[in-house]
Amino acid sequence: MSAEKKEPATRYCYHCRTHHPVEEMKLLITKTGSRWRCVKSIEAVRRSKDERDQYGRQVSAANQAEASGRARILNKIQSEK
Ligand SMILES: [Zn+2]
Repeated sequence: MSAEKKEPATRYCYHCRTHHPVEEMKLLITKTGSRWRCVKSIEAVRRSKDERDQYGRQVSAANQAEASGRARILNKIQSEK
């Protein structure tokens, strides 16, 4: 006779809407309460954010290059007048 209640080995992941092994889960505290979310989905978001940041830096560098290129052309036009 065992009164021991075994904890379920999985948790419901609100992000994937499925169950994952509890070792892969993280308890997040939100305004509306605590929620279990898998580490994989958290890392995927972090990775995609890094990629977005990198993309943003590339875009702003390209914009800067374009702006300085335009400034050169404008200077050239003005000096030719
Ligand atoms: Zn998940």
